[in-house]
Amino acid sequence: MNKIWTIGALLQWTQQYFAGKGIDSPRLDAEILLAHVLHKERIYLYAHYDEPLNGEELAAYRAMVKKRADRLSVAHILGTKAFMGLDFKVSEDVLIPRPETEMLVETVVTAAEGTAPVIIDIGTGSGAIVLSLLHYLPQATGTGVDISTKALAIATGNGRSLGLDDRVTWIESDLFTQVPPGTCDWLVSNPPYLTQGDMEQLQPEVRHDPALALYGGDDGLDFYRRIAADSPAYVKVGGHCAVEIGAGQADDVTAIFCTGGAYEHDQTVKDYGGIDRVLVFSRKG
Ligand code: GLN
Repeated sequence: MNKIWTIGALLQWTQQYFAGKGIDSPRLDAEILLAHVLHKERIYLYAHYDEPLNGEELAAYRAMVKKRADRLSVAHILGTKAFMGLDFKVSEDVLIPRPETEMLVETVVTAAEGTAPVIIDIGTGSGAIVLSLLHYLPQATGTGVDISTKALAIATGNGRSLGLDDRVTWIESDLFTQVPPGTCDWLVSNPPYLTQGDMEQLQPEVRHDPALALYGGDDGLDFYRRIAADSPAYVKVGGHCAVEIGAGQADDVTAIFCTGGAYEHDQTVKDYGGIDRVLVFSRKG
């Protein structure tokens, strides 16, 4: 006799299966995938443990469980990721927006609230940073820059679906090379900052993020050097540069930005793990 798979039984089974595969949050991931298959919120599952799935739902759920067991992230399986309370379409062509990066957005929103800043996001990927800034700063205008055509296609779609396309411009460019002269109030970036050593120890899920968005050269600092060298022409005096950094990079990145005299250190923001995660510099006159 075939077992009747109820919501409760499936969640319990999947939780154990995922845990055995070394997945960090087995229960949560099972719930997100099952809720998605059923077109419900997660809360629905708790009140309907005894409800059975039909054959179609079960097949769709099994296919997703298999992908997750193969260590594809939930974001990659669903093709969307929530960031700053907004839904972003994602694919293997963009870095999946990370919760730590919300610190960067929150820092800029707090500092720029009530103003009409011009923002440029270097290495925009899915557009998560610039688009959430535009969402929370309704008078802001922004430009998202990326070297990847495919990433910009995703970013453009996200701009449209968030209703922000009238305030954002996308430029395909290797950092500033194709960016026309002009000045901004805020330069923001979460550049690739992993070292060669980090790249050799990536979690299986992170291997589905593009290496282009992760690898920052031997010491992980190549993009900070290039941004610090090229950005002063684009950031107005009194304007700011806010960058995400990797663990242990704060002193080096501060030295890179401040040594030439174009910037001074303004603020360091820690993430929820207590790691220095965001640095803000001001453009000196
Ligand atoms: N935080 C990302 C990771 O841990 C790296 C992001 C980046 O290089 N900008 O995989």
